[in-house]
Amino acid sequence: MSADSFRRTKIIFTLGPATESEAMLEQMFRAGADVVRLNMAHATHDWTRDVIRRIRAVSARLGREVAIMMDIKGPEIRTGDLAAPIELKAGEIFDFTVKPGAEPGSGEEVRSVDVNYANLVNDVEVGAIVLVDNGLLRLEVLAKSAAHLRCRVLIPGQLSSRRHINLPGVRVNLPAFTAKDRADTLVGLAAGIDFVALSFVREAKDVQQLRTFLAEQKSSVRIVAKIEDQSAIANLDEIVAACDALMVARGDLGIECAFEELPVIQRRAVRACLAQGRPVIVATHMLESMITQPVPTRAEITDVANAVYEFADCVMLSGETTVGKYPVECVQMLDKIARRIEAEDDLEKFEPTVFTGERMKVLHSAVVLANQIPNSKILTFTRHGFVAHGLAALRPARAPIFAFTPSPMLQRQLRLVRAVEPFLMPLANEPDATIENALALLRRAGRIAPGDKLIVATDILSLDRLVDSVQLRTVT
Ligand code: PGA
Ligand code: MN
Repeated sequence: MSADSFRRTKIIFTLGPATESEAMLEQMFRAGADVVRLNMAHATHDWTRDVIRRIRAVSARLGREVAIMMDIKGPEIRTGDLAAPIELKAGEIFDFTVKPGAEPGSGEEVRSVDVNYANLVNDVEVGAIVLVDNGLLRLEVLAKSAAHLRCRVLIPGQLSSRRHINLPGVRVNLPAFTAKDRADTLVGLAAGIDFVALSFVREAKDVQQLRTFLAEQKSSVRIVAKIEDQSAIANLDEIVAACDALMVARGDLGIECAFEELPVIQRRAVRACLAQGRPVIVATHMLESMITQPVPTRAEITDVANAVYEFADCVMLSGETTVGKYPVECVQMLDKIARRIEAEDDLEKFEPTVFTGERMKVLHSAVVLANQIPNSKILTFTRHGFVAHGLAALRPARAPIFAFTPSPMLQRQLRLVRAVEPFLMPLANEPDATIENALALLRRAGRIAPGDKLIVATDILSLDRLVDSVQLRTVT
């Protein structure tokens, strides 16, 4: 990848049977994937440890560090096992039983399925809508008892085992971070993940609870808050403030909210993140038709382009790369669309938030300088990620952000951030030596050439004091 064909928008893909082999991982990384997502709704602990080892081995061999995001399922309600799928008919009366094996409501011939959540009957009112399997089945609650919810089928279809239940607008009393989530996260931390994505975040407290847990484990793994229901939208700003990155989880959002609200919510969420300088991921159904077809629909191409136009940090693939027939082509497709849209002049018209704090103001001046000098590149050094995230939040119009860090985990975590290209390098005690080392590395990597303009945002020693500086250098 030469410096001028640099892609700013990052690509996340979900690992599954279609992509988990070493050979496929290699192709996915070569195609430009930045982050691998492990969906714990479908993963065993042995599989998790195994694939993490494999991802690290392949990326070490290719010399391309990718980040690993463990997506934990959070407060999710699912139906139980069925001996055989049930064909639900329109108008049929059907029971959800909350006590495993309990008899359905008295008397009549009513079919039923167990649900993994005993409090369901307390959280849901008569008249509420129950959606099953990505909203494919729709039922209305007619009556409830301690043991079951009696419903009428409004939209019929087939019900199979362990299907996800959505209750639009209902505040479910399940904990945000469940016992399963805790066990999954511990496995992930031991195996070396970089992000935990928390599903169904409803308020900032949910994120803080996970943060406390990670702090107890002495982990610097970062938290992605997935917004998937109406409470998350109501508490959007506080969730953005509490997390390290946000995921607009359109799969569940599109079920939990009226569908015509979805584009409005996506825009609001992306803007809320830009306003607070948080990375943001647009997820789900981006290239859905490519699960079975080698080319996307025109609408999908435009949807991906729209996320790039909105200045999102990442676009994400789910079913396309877990079970799809064309996972590598999907990454290539996202790469191609992102590069094309990023070349548009519109993308230079971003008006960044005026952030408070002197350090952010210094970074802002670096970005203003970069935006005024054609073909410039930004260079920075970061131990904890603050400057790299800060520069990215200001969305430089054209300049890539070369971020050097001594931390392997931070290097991988910066793969999630728009326009940042992270490098691993020990930082010398003298800032000048550090800059020279970075320049040598960039030259070797073919990222800079003589005559290039570099905007260097870093600490320098002035007499014996460290001061913030923004320098303009010409590469010799
Ligand atoms: P999921 O989350 O794939 O874990 O359900 C993403 C979404 O709901 O869009
Ligand atoms: Mn979801």
